[in-house]
Amino acid sequence: MAPIYMDHHATTPVDPRVLEAMLPWFTEKFGNAASRTHAFGWEASKAVERAREQVAALIHADPSEIVLTSGATESDNLAIKGCPGPGRIVTVVTEHKAVLDSGDSVKCEVLRLPVRPDGLLDLDGLRRALDMPARLVSVMFANNEIGVIQPVAEIGAICRERGVVFHTDAAQACGKVPVDVRAMDIHLLSMSAHKMYGPKGVGALYVRKRDPRVRLTALIDGGGHENGLRSGTLPVPLVVGFGAACEIAAREMESESARVLALRERLRRRILETIEYAAVNGSLERRVPGNLNMSFAYVEGESLILSLGDVAVSSGSACTSAKLEPSYVLHALGVDEPLARASIRFGLGRGNTEEEVDRVVGLLGKAVARLREISPLYPGPEKSRANSGVSG
Ligand SMILES: *Cc1c(COP(=O)(O)O)cnc(C)c1O
Repeated sequence: MAPIYMDHHATTPVDPRVLEAMLPWFTEKFGNAASRTHAFGWEASKAVERAREQVAALIHADPSEIVLTSGATESDNLAIKGCPGPGRIVTVVTEHKAVLDSGDSVKCEVLRLPVRPDGLLDLDGLRRALDMPARLVSVMFANNEIGVIQPVAEIGAICRERGVVFHTDAAQACGKVPVDVRAMDIHLLSMSAHKMYGPKGVGALYVRKRDPRVRLTALIDGGGHENGLRSGTLPVPLVVGFGAACEIAAREMESESARVLALRERLRRRILETIEYAAVNGSLERRVPGNLNMSFAYVEGESLILSLGDVAVSSGSACTSAKLEPSYVLHALGVDEPLARASIRFGLGRGNTEEEVDRVVGLLGKAVARLREISPLYPGPEKSRANSGVSG
């Protein structure tokens, strides 16, 4: 059986159209975009500026506000470590490690706000936190494990009112849901190409230029590229691919989101119809179309992932699942440890089909049934179902 990829939060394949746009920039058109004295450089620079426009258009920014980086990890580092004080950093317990660990390395107080059981930030809690001086609020747009979409526009409005810089890690949101840095009062925004069918190793930080102008300190010094905010020769092929991926996403987001959402809902419905003691983690309503995170009670988590064999899913984020520790994101939602271990993150995307969804439901049902058979804790079929035949 061909393996099935349902881990699009970890990474996505490069769209063939993106690869095609990239290829000439490795060989015939190899110039350094910073070479100002000849046509090789001018040509590369023109391609970079076109890509910058494509990236900016996806988030309704001005091209001059796009700082190209190596990916969302670097963008998060630049936003958080580069944001000058005074005041503390306010963030959220369910953030990506690139945000949490960057905050920890800054010599200032960091407040990590809790989330509600649905994974969303409590806005009154944020308002209260901002009664103390803060330099930066960092709240992710869409979560990489449970897919929930934070109330970004509301958070932006609160930050504007309090005069605090607002950063959002939008690696899981860009290209999946509409993002508008102006309408949402976002000051800093992290993007990653490989989460949206572009190449690995390139991304961007949006840095607002007016109302207000946000000032950052560079982390990487050198030739003064990217307005002095990120020195280093630009990887022109990757940048061109990132731009192409953004343009495709902008054009196809609506139809693709509808298609992926239908697949996600088919997956969720069939699981709930055929597998007992299954529950969705995090808000279902405020969620990116491709994400489904579910817990299966009375099964041993690692055995569940392993017994799925040829289905590529994850038990958490790609980085934390290597450690075989239960997800800190699910813990923050109040999911207990055995259940957090027995959770699966499905990440549906551009290449998935209905047939794949149905095959995954079948394999999952068999695996869960087998593991429950050997579980000393499994209490037998759910009573309500046995009595009424109600499902899900
Ligand atoms: C993938 C991801 C990152 C890291 O992005 P890279 O481009 O791989 O460095 C950061 N934040 C979130 C929310 C992500 O999903």
